[in-house]
Amino acid sequence: MKIYNTLSRQKEEFIPLKEGKVSMYVCGPTVYNLIHIGNARPMIVFDTVRRYLEYKGYEVNYVSNFTDVDDKIIKKAQEEGISAQEVSKRYIEECQKDMAALHVKEATSHPLATEEIGGMLEMIGTLIEKGYAYQAEDGTVYFRTRRFSEYGKLSHKNLDDLQAGHREIQVTGEQKEETFDFVLWKPKKEGEPYWESPWCQGRPGWHIECSVMARKYLGDTIDIHAGGEDLIFPHHENEIAQSEAANGKAFAKYWMHNGFLNIDNKKMSKSLGNFFTVREISQEYDLQVLRFFMLSAHYRSPLNFSRDLMEAAASGLTRILTAAENIRHLQESASEGELTKEERSLLEECGRFVKKFEEAMEDDFNTADGVSAVFELVKFLNIHTSGECTKTFLESCYERLETLCNILGIVIDKEPEVLDQEVEALIAERQAARKEKNFARADEIRDTLLNMGIVLEDTREGVKWKRA
Ligand code: AMP
Ligand code: ZN
Repeated sequence: MKIYNTLSRQKEEFIPLKEGKVSMYVCGPTVYNLIHIGNARPMIVFDTVRRYLEYKGYEVNYVSNFTDVDDKIIKKAQEEGISAQEVSKRYIEECQKDMAALHVKEATSHPLATEEIGGMLEMIGTLIEKGYAYQAEDGTVYFRTRRFSEYGKLSHKNLDDLQAGHREIQVTGEQKEETFDFVLWKPKKEGEPYWESPWCQGRPGWHIECSVMARKYLGDTIDIHAGGEDLIFPHHENEIAQSEAANGKAFAKYWMHNGFLNIDNKKMSKSLGNFFTVREISQEYDLQVLRFFMLSAHYRSPLNFSRDLMEAAASGLTRILTAAENIRHLQESASEGELTKEERSLLEECGRFVKKFEEAMEDDFNTADGVSAVFELVKFLNIHTSGECTKTFLESCYERLETLCNILGIVIDKEPEVLDQEVEALIAERQAARKEKNFARADEIRDTLLNMGIVLEDTREGVKWKRA
C-alpha cells in the first residue's frame, strides 16, 4: 500500500511500526461554532483511510482531539456571557452529532486539550531543561526554534527565508529571541481561563496540545499524523519540533494532508465567510451525500463545492442505493439452493471490481477511482441479478457491494432520511389545500406526514411540526 508522505513529498510503501497495528492522530477542530463542510473534509477522508486499514485487517488506534481552549472560544464566551467551557462543551456535542450523521466512526480516543494540561506542563518543562525553550520576562514560554536543526523539514522551509519573511512583523510587547520562535505557554489576560504553572498563570499554545495528546495516547513515534494542508505550516512543523526535541525520537512516520474544500476556487473558511455548515447542508441532503461528494475526488486535490456537484453526487449515490434495494427485494422471493455454475463464474467476475477498488485504495487512497469501481460493480449487478438467481448468489452480490460501500462509509440499507425541506414543502401544500377548502387533500397530507414520522400542530402562529 502506498501513501503520499508530505515529509518526503513522495508516495511511500506503508510499513507500520508494529505489525498489524496502526497508530493514527488526526488534528481535530477548534470548537467555538458549528463545523463547516471544509472542516468535514479531513474527518471524512481520514475516517475512510481508517476504514480501509481496518478492512485490510489492521487494528487502528485512531486519536482525534478537540481544541477546547483558544482565543476564538474565549471571545465567543465573552460575547455570550457564558464560560469558555460551556461554549466548547456545546460545540463538541454539536460536532459529534454532525460526525455521526457523516458516518465518521468514533475515534478510539478523542481527548480534550483542557484535560491534558498536566502533560503539557511536563513537556514544556522538559523542553526548557533541554535548552529548546525559554521563559520570557512576562512569563511566556517560547520554543527556541533555531535550536532544533531539522526545523522546516515538513514544510520544506528554511529558517533564513522565514526570518526574511518575518523581519517586518515584530509584534510589540513580544519578548522573543527570534521572530519565528513560537508560544508554548502564555500568561492569562483578565477574565480568561487559566491554569497554574511554574512560569505564570496562563494557558498552553495550540501546537503543544497535539504533541502531548499524540504522545499520551499513541506513544513517542506514531504511524500516521494527518490534517488539512493548512496545518503543514506552522502547526505540524511546530509539533515535530516540540515532540522530537522533547522525546528524542522521530514523531510520525507518514504525514498525510487533505486538500482544501473551496468555493469559487477560494478556501472555505470561517474568516472569509464563504462557508456552509454541515448542519445547513443536512437540511437539504442526507449527509451521506456530502460524504459521497467528498470521496468522489482524491483527498489531496482541491475540491470545489457547488450545488451541481452535490446533485451529481446525490444521483450517483441513488444509483448505488437503488441497486442495493433491488437486490434486497429479489432476495425475498429467491429460491434456496446451491450456486449454479454460471453464478459461480459471475461471482468470480465480480471479484474484478473488488480488485480494482482495492488497487485504487492501495494507491494513496484514490477514492475517486474506488468510487468508479463501485459504479462498475453496480452496473454489473444490475445486468446480472434477476428473479431467476439463487438466494445464495444474491446474498454474495449484496455482500460485495456492502463491503466496498462500508469502506467508503456509505450505508446501503439506510431508510432515506426525512429532510426538513420535504416537510416544509408538504406543509406549504397542505396550507394551500386548506385555503382552497380542499380538506380531503389537506388531511391526506397530514396522514402522509404522520407516516413519515412528522406530527403537525396547528397553532395561532401557524403550523408547527416535530418528529414523532
Ligand atoms: P480548524 O478548526 O480551523 O482548526 O480546522 C479543523 C480541520 O479542518 C483542520 O484539519 C483544517 O485543516 C481543516 N480545514 C479547515 N478548512 C478547510 C477547508 N476549506 N478544506 C479542507 N480542510 C479544511
Ligand atoms: Zn494538531
